[in-house]
Amino acid sequence: MVKQRTIKKTVRARGVGIHSGKMVNLTLIPADVNHGVVFKRMDAGGKQVYAHSAFVNEVVLSTGLENKGVKISTVEHLMSALSALGIDNVLVELDSFEVPIMDGSSAPFIFLVQSAGIEEQPEPKRFIVIKDTVRVENGQSWAQVEPHDGFKVTLEIDFEHKKVKESGQKLSIDFAEQSYLKEISRARTFGYLKDVEMMQKQNLALGASVDNAIALTDDDILNEDGMRYHNEFVKHKILDIVGDLFLLGSNLIGHYEGYKTGHMLNDQLLSAILSQPGAYSVETFDELSSPISYYSEDWQNDI
Ligand SMILES: [Zn+2]
Repeated sequence: MVKQRTIKKTVRARGVGIHSGKMVNLTLIPADVNHGVVFKRMDAGGKQVYAHSAFVNEVVLSTGLENKGVKISTVEHLMSALSALGIDNVLVELDSFEVPIMDGSSAPFIFLVQSAGIEEQPEPKRFIVIKDTVRVENGQSWAQVEPHDGFKVTLEIDFEHKKVKESGQKLSIDFAEQSYLKEISRARTFGYLKDVEMMQKQNLALGASVDNAIALTDDDILNEDGMRYHNEFVKHKILDIVGDLFLLGSNLIGHYEGYKTGHMLNDQLLSAILSQPGAYSVETFDELSSPISYYSEDWQNDI
């Protein structure tokens, strides 16, 4: 039986919130079988929000959740790390409305979960297996999932910027063959410096800096240390997609393909999948067969 997973012990991290610019404490706590990923706001009376598509309420710059007035912002990089390591059950305590941005990638969260250790639990792990193509469109942009014997993401972005064009705007990653930890986890978020400066004048993105993002100037990047991957931009967008897809509540078996997608289109795609019961099935597996090899092997790798 392929089992559900949690972490072995409680672990903590502290980092700046991208919206507020204030320090946020994050604690990951082991959770029982069938618990799911649940956020708990310690600064708001311990109110909880289940990490699921049904609670998504923010999709513009990042993915955020809300339940009965309690918000959790910028969940996608943590969700991406939890998805990659196959963590089904964990309680995420925060003392603010946002997950700390750390270095703008998911690598610090991978490191945190690996330092806690991963525990298999005595219940079968559920996968969402795509049975039929589901597609959503918005103008030129589109996103779809189709049946695939594994987990694969193919994405094309289209940024009018010299550095992004040079680095390659299209990438396909088949996670049965390529390691999320090695190929994706270190890719940082990015944005135009002029946009960040404009947002900061409006008291937004107060935590954004070259410590947690690639800052695009008119024809270069501001970060003195350069890029972590030659195609870091499209890789980060794939990191975001892995995180957004995990808001289905289970790891996905299928092929995601997209063109100029973002959190909004990803959210629409999840709603479309979940509203078409024939498009997917929830399955468990007796043994580690090829569709799920990604979840069985990658989690023990080093970044
Ligand atoms: Zn991101």
